[in-house]
Amino acid sequence: MDASGRAMDEGLLDRFAAIVGHANALRDDAGTAPYVSELRGLHRGRTPLVLRPATTGEVSRILRLASETGTPIVPQGGNTGLVGGQTPDASGRSVVVSLSRVDRIREFDLASGTVTVEAGVVLQRLQEEAEARDRLFPLALGSQGSCQIGGNLSSNAGGTGALAYGSARDLCLGIEAVLPTGEILDDLRKLKKDNTGYDLKDLFIGAEGTLGIVTAAVLKLFPRPRGREVAWAGLSSPKAALELLGIAQERAGPGLTGFELVEARALDFVVRHVPSSTMPLDDRHEWLVLMEISSGRSAGEARELLEEVLGEAHAAGLVADAVPAASLAQAQAFRRLRETISEAQRPEGASIKHDVSVPVASIPRFIAEARPLVESVSPGARTVCFGHMGDGNLHYNVSQPPGARPEDFLALYPRMNEAVHGLVRQFGGSFAAEHGIGSQKRDELLATEPPVAIDLMRRIKAAFDPAGIMNPGKVI
Ligand code: ZN
Repeated sequence: MDASGRAMDEGLLDRFAAIVGHANALRDDAGTAPYVSELRGLHRGRTPLVLRPATTGEVSRILRLASETGTPIVPQGGNTGLVGGQTPDASGRSVVVSLSRVDRIREFDLASGTVTVEAGVVLQRLQEEAEARDRLFPLALGSQGSCQIGGNLSSNAGGTGALAYGSARDLCLGIEAVLPTGEILDDLRKLKKDNTGYDLKDLFIGAEGTLGIVTAAVLKLFPRPRGREVAWAGLSSPKAALELLGIAQERAGPGLTGFELVEARALDFVVRHVPSSTMPLDDRHEWLVLMEISSGRSAGEARELLEEVLGEAHAAGLVADAVPAASLAQAQAFRRLRETISEAQRPEGASIKHDVSVPVASIPRFIAEARPLVESVSPGARTVCFGHMGDGNLHYNVSQPPGARPEDFLALYPRMNEAVHGLVRQFGGSFAAEHGIGSQKRDELLATEPPVAIDLMRRIKAAFDPAGIMNPGKVI
């Protein structure tokens, strides 16, 4: 075995490479490097070969050969996953299959309200192509400039738009996937209503590439809102935020398209570390909400609704202060405050992160009970709690105490996870809300999900992938 982990015989690598052409088969370290680690460098592996097929047919031939030869396959989209699902392991035996070149938008069908896209289409490109046709594709993620539709579906991505439009799963009507044997499951139907037997497409969504490779999908399009208005509101507690959410949902109904809860400390970090960012409100409030209301009719209507909601909440004593964005530029600046929280955490030292969800009504109690647990694991640690409150989904992050040694704090990772996830379980919540399981949370999944569920998952995995070649070591 050499430095790149070449444990596989050259003849087999040549056979794989011949399927995609040698220009799209990367074998040296410089070529494979971008595919074996992710942005933060938390997950790192090795591979003797990265294949970049351009068509579903090529993906099929790759998987057939992999099946025949027992070669492990790691599918990869934009490589933006946060739990290691897209990273090969350290054995150097897995072939990475990048879907980047399988990237055609096959068809817009505006009358049916659908678009048929291939897996490698970058999310932002799809958003822009939809907008150019006066439609909305509502999935919105921090990584949308590089993440891809195949990865979005395989990880069932959520994001800020999930409140009104649902997660990736809710946006998908049909799927095309290649099974480990190379067989192609063509289920690219544009049907909202389709009860023909088990829903196979739903098994591929969120499977993180462990059952096969998603190569294309039929996705839903929506009318483009004519008005989208945002405001920051300052509140004294998560309980007040919960009541504000209730008012906003009652008044705006499906027009409530964003409701992000943010702890003040998160914005302190942003203002400190992200150039040209300022606090949205003059006075300090321990909790803030970034609320977005959309209207299919006009910006004026969205604005009116927003002011109505804030006015009612103010009268009820829930909102101490609020400021709607006065211009498009200010609206962008408001959203940027929320979007840059993760990067603003980095200069504050090491952090331990949790992507959890609990029933929406339990959020105030969860936050109240989590704090002392965090303090007991690491006195002085700083919670940076923010997230999609309307979905019950919190990014319950914890930054190290100021001045502590990062490695000492990171050594507490398992204990901190255990404390926070244990509380999540008490609330009937999920320790993997929108980022998935990958390799990072696999052992915890196996240890905490009911045995009946694990057993069913194992049997599904075995039915799809009896040889165990698809993304080994991930999820299950
Ligand atoms: Zn999120």
